[in-house]
Amino acid sequence: MRTNVECIFCRLVRGEIPSDRVYEDDQIIAFRDIQPAAPVHILIIPREHVESVSDLREDDAALAGALLLVAGSIAEREGLTADGYRVISNTGESAGQTVSHLHLHLLGGRPLGALG
Ligand code: 5GP
Ligand code: ZN
Repeated sequence: MRTNVECIFCRLVRGEIPSDRVYEDDQIIAFRDIQPAAPVHILIIPREHVESVSDLREDDAALAGALLLVAGSIAEREGLTADGYRVISNTGESAGQTVSHLHLHLLGGRPLGALG
């Protein structure tokens, strides 16, 4: 199990930092972003410390797929499917990644505009 004692999201996985969890299973947790950028803004993360999309390995293929499936099912549960939503993962400095633990942002509940 990859983990990092100082990582804020690893601490959140361990329950050392409170969060508004909306989903959890043996591999993944999802919780509401503390600074929402849209009416629905949920972060979906692996329990294991994977730094970013760039850090995924071949044997993470099932985990990577599971993260996307969870995003889709939470979107459905949050009522976002009809109008649409956005799933993104900021990776590295140029994208503005601020937490070095892989996370998908699920954003919806308003028109989101174009990227960039
Ligand atoms: P990034 O900028 O790395 O793509 O996204 C990190 C996200 O994590 C930001 O949207 C930020 O608001 C959120 N975040 C950072 N710390 C916490 C926290 O302690 N709790 C929650 N719920 N969200 C956090
Ligand atoms: Zn971590």
